[in-house]
Amino acid sequence: MSRPSEFDLIRDCFASGYPLADDLITGVGDDCSVIRPPFPYDLAQSIDTQVADVHFPASAPAHLIASRALRCAASDLAAMGARPQGFHLALTLPDNDPSWLGDFADGLRRTAAQLGLPLLGGDTTRGTQLVITVAVQGYLPQGQRLERSGAQAGDDIWLSGPVGAAALILPTVLAAPATDNQATAPYYHPSVHLGFGQKLLSLASAAMDISDGLLQDAGHIARASDTGLSFDACSIPTAVSREHPRWSDCLTGGDDYQILFTASPENASAIEAAAMAESLSQCRRVGRVTAESGKVSVWDGAQLLNFQTQGYEHF
Ligand code: ADP
Ligand code: MG
Repeated sequence: MSRPSEFDLIRDCFASGYPLADDLITGVGDDCSVIRPPFPYDLAQSIDTQVADVHFPASAPAHLIASRALRCAASDLAAMGARPQGFHLALTLPDNDPSWLGDFADGLRRTAAQLGLPLLGGDTTRGTQLVITVAVQGYLPQGQRLERSGAQAGDDIWLSGPVGAAALILPTVLAAPATDNQATAPYYHPSVHLGFGQKLLSLASAAMDISDGLLQDAGHIARASDTGLSFDACSIPTAVSREHPRWSDCLTGGDDYQILFTASPENASAIEAAAMAESLSQCRRVGRVTAESGKVSVWDGAQLLNFQTQGYEHF
């Protein structure tokens, strides 16, 4: 196959085959994308970068890299309660291998269709390392959003589903990056709870998606809300049972993109109904918000548990 020019590449890979948007006036091919936001909605925006061999193995199949990059980015919309509107994609490529690009675009189109995200535009450059930046945006009913700062002492803490599967499968992914099966799905195809996030808008007091480990990310809600988060170890849905030697890795390890949220106890049955409607059968109440500002604790009955690390940090 001959090498495509930058413009052929954009036309072949990014100009068609993505979900359509009725609010999109100008899309791929012009200097800017132009959208006309409906009234009365606020626009939520988030940007996420994935660097080869930092966020994913560079030798992983391109369609799997695309799936992970778009899903990880879209998860921020779910965590904010936003309805997806579309995304921009910035790609830095070490070279323009047409079969790699075709596979990447196939994975991207499939994932965009699954998440209902039109591709609005982007940027394509050459560089020494593969870098994928995805900017997502979505709509929120004016004045509503799920911020990290709204938790109140006495609220319940909830988790949308089990944590740990992505962290536990990481050694397998690194050893054999092409493995695409049920076990590696939490890593390459993390669930994005877009429908549930929108339902939580009227039910939750604070929310975030877990990208760097449950306990570390819980600290963000605790500090933003000036409260404490006290977890009940046995209630937390995890990929392996409490007795398993790697149980604690489920609480401190990586990126499951579950939604961690807090809510008034009076909303508990409505939250359970919303979770059932979204087929989130492992959504659980996992603890209680306390007045101890900034503190995250995990209790096994009356025993306070200690963890060596709380989660992943880049620096
Ligand atoms: P400009 O130089 O005006 O920024 P470019 O030549 O970089 O425009 O891009 C041409 C068009 O192709 C633009 O509409 C841009 O949004 C789109 N585009 C470029 N790269 C990508 C990409 N990776 N994904 C989606 N659209 C892209
Ligand atoms: Mg331009």
